[in-house]
Parts: sequence; C-alpha cells; structure tokens
Amino acid sequence: MLPEKSHVLNFENTEIAFRDQSNASLRQAYQLFRLMNNKTLVCIGKHLVSFAMAIHFPVKNILRKTIYRHFVGGMSIEDCSVTISRLANRHVFSILDYAQEGEESEAAFNATFREIIRTIEFAQHNPAVPFSVFKITGIARFDLLAKVSSGSVLTDVEAAEYRQVEERVDAIFRRGYELDVPVMVDAEETWIQPVLDEMVMRLMAKYNGKKAIVQNTYQMYRHDSVERIKKHHQMALEGGFRFGLKIVRGAYMEKERARAIEKGYPSPIQPDKESTDCDFNGIIHYFIDHLESIDFMVATHNEESIRLLASLIDARELLRNHPGIYFSQLYGMSDHITYNLAEQGYNVAKYVPYGAVKTMMPYLFRRAEENSSVKGQSSRELKMIHTEMKRRRS
Ligand SMILES: Cc1cc2nc3c(=O)[nH]c(=O)nc-3n(C[C@H](O)[C@H](O)[C@H](O)COP(=O)(O)OP(=O)(O)OC[C@H]3O[C@@H](n4cnc5c(N)ncnc54)[C@H](O)[C@@H]3O)c2cc1C
Repeated sequence: MLPEKSHVLNFENTEIAFRDQSNASLRQAYQLFRLMNNKTLVCIGKHLVSFAMAIHFPVKNILRKTIYRHFVGGMSIEDCSVTISRLANRHVFSILDYAQEGEESEAAFNATFREIIRTIEFAQHNPAVPFSVFKITGIARFDLLAKVSSGSVLTDVEAAEYRQVEERVDAIFRRGYELDVPVMVDAEETWIQPVLDEMVMRLMAKYNGKKAIVQNTYQMYRHDSVERIKKHHQMALEGGFRFGLKIVRGAYMEKERARAIEKGYPSPIQPDKESTDCDFNGIIHYFIDHLESIDFMVATHNEESIRLLASLIDARELLRNHPGIYFSQLYGMSDHITYNLAEQGYNVAKYVPYGAVKTMMPYLFRRAEENSSVKGQSSRELKMIHTEMKRRRS
C-alpha cells in the first residue's frame, strides 16, 4: 500500500552501503554469511559451540574473530566508540545495547543495571547516540517476571525480589528523565510481557510529559499488538503524556508457537507472515496519522516496510529527520538499507550490542538463525556483499 506519489528509495547502491569496509573485511563478511546461510550448519554449529563453551574448550577466540566481530561493537562502551564515530561520519546514529542474557543472580542484575545507567550517561554527552535501550530480563529473573505476569501470588521473598526489580526499572527511566535521554525497553516472550507492559506504561505516565523518555516495544507477529498499541496510545492521550514506542516483527516465533502447543493454549502469533506484514505496515499509517502524540521507531530489515515509511514521510512533506521518527537496523546487518537511508537524510540508527563473548551467545545464535535459509537460496546480505565485491573487481 505505497502512497501514490511514492518516492522510490534505492537500496541497491552497494558502494554507499559498504564504503567503510576494506576488501579484507568484505571478504570475511562474505565467508561468514555464506556459512550462516546453511541452516543445517547453523543448527549443528549452535549445539557444538554451546557444548564447547560448557566444557571450557577454547572456542571464544574463534568466535571473537568471526561472528562476534561482525555483529558486536565490543566488550565495553569504550570499545564501541570507534564504531559509533564511524557510523556518525555517515550520519548514522547508534544505540548502545548492553546484551547480557541468561544471568540469574542479584549481583549480575545489579552489575547490568549499573551498566545500563552508564549507557544513558554516555548518550547524554554524545549526539550520535540519541537513545538508550535495555531488556528487563537483564535486570530481573525470567521466572519471577513470568509468575507476576500470570497473576500468581508471590511469596514474601519473591515480593521483596520483585520490589527490587521495580526499583531498578524506575531508576533507569529516572536517569533517562534527569539527563533527557529517551530509553526504550525491548519486547520479550509473551508470557512475561504483561508485567513489562504494566511497568513501562506506569513509568511512561510518570516520566513522559511532552517528551517520550520512556518507550515500549511491540512485536507485530503477535495478533493482538495493533489492539495493544491503540489501547496504550489511548492511555497516553487520557493521561496527557507522550506515547513512545518501537515496532519490530518479533524474534521468538518458534519458541512462542512451541510453548502454545506444549501448554495447549491458542498461539499468540499471527497465522502467517502476510498477517504480520499487514499489521506491521498498517500500524505505520496509524503512527503517521498521530504524530502529534506519538514518537516511534520502525526497527526492521524489511525493505517494503522501510520504503512505505520513507514514502509516507515524503508524501506528507514531513522532515526526513523528523525528531519523532526513526528507522533502525542491527549492527552487522542490512548496511545497504541503513547507509542509503542516511544518505537520503532520514533518521536511522544502528543497534550496537556489546558485552562479553559468552553472554552474547544467545544474541549471536539469533542472528545466525535469522540469516540462514532452509531452501539454500542466498540471503539478501550475501547477494549485496557479492555485488559489491564484483563491483570493486570490475
Ligand atoms: C533495531 C532492532 C531492534 C529489535 N528489537 C527487538 C525486540 O525488542 N524484541 C524482539 O522480539 N525482536 C527485536 N528485533 C528483532 C525483530 O523482531 C525481527 O526478528 C527481525 O528484525 C526480523 O524481522 P524483519 O522485520 O527485519 O524482517 P522480515 O524478514 O520481513 O521478517 C521476519 C520476521 O517476520 C515474522 N514471521 C516470519 N514468518 C512468519 C510466519 N510464518 N508467521 C508470522 N510471522 C512470521 C517473524 O517475526 C520474523 O522474525 C529487533 C530488530 C531490530 C532491527
């Protein structure tokens, strides 16, 4: 459903997309995407790496020089500075994503909490970093969030633990408010999302006046997301605060479907990809129609959705760098989209994850799976890198 007078964005310019990559790094990226393209290999690789890590086999160095280097900014904020400057030189913003997953101790949660605060403080002094982001499971026990979401009664110990979680989440947004840095919360599994939504909406009401400091995320592969977004928008209108959000398609589809079958409840996921796409693209129209009360980010590697938003911005004669509208892609993916959007003057940001190799593994496995293909066709990434390699040779 592109508007009639649509301006057609060209993502095919590989010279712009890869101009910061040397021939050697392009070759390495090509080899990496070629390996990841094979679904069977990714599946076996995932198990082998997990096993190697469990028995302390020295596999970290190999990972660090390959998949980690491609998709991760580094171990620390300081490590990411070079990447942030390189992206900023091409007018691409960065969003630092401290990607700790799977930790369960209070000490780890407190350490992650302090690191998230550091990302907000770093963003305050760096115009190339317009937002901070975090996952609530980085600072809270997954099973506790699931229990609160299910409405079960907590024990006294659990209730005290949950109060700590609420305090951490509040303190993160409070720091964003004090330093005027918007902070987004990632969306996670549906069975912990109710408590995430509840906390985020409550804190939106507390910290968002005219500015969307607190921002939620909605996965459009859920068939109820359009309804949830509209309901939350209505709450913001009634509460007199600005609604801030990002939309994604959703990263946990297979896990969601498997759990629904195992536990015998209707799947929360759309019946097919077309339905996800339809809701994803449909809600973009809604945001554009409600810009006076919504700030939003469209986080995707899907060219059709990106073309749609870009053409709506142009058709409505909005500023391409409208402060309430952002595109976003993940670091190491879809540079042809990011760099071409930036070249055309749209607001576009890369999520730059950072952290230790071991704790980045779930994130890296998701990237590998996302880039693999069942039928053996080349991924879009692979084709673009190949095109650029050929262009440079000619
Ligand atoms: C900047 C950024 C931030 C992100 N943050 C989050 C986050 O907070 N939470 C999160 O869950 N994910 C997040 N993701 C990942 C995102 O949800 C997607 O997994 C990923 O971006 C692929 O979707 P796409 O729109 O880029 O591409 P596409 O290739 O167009 O879409 C693939 C997606 O479509 C959906 N889909 C595929 N097949 C079907 C089907 N048969 N039925 C229904 N739906 C289907 C799935 O969601 C799949 O991931 C983020 C992605 C980006 C770029």
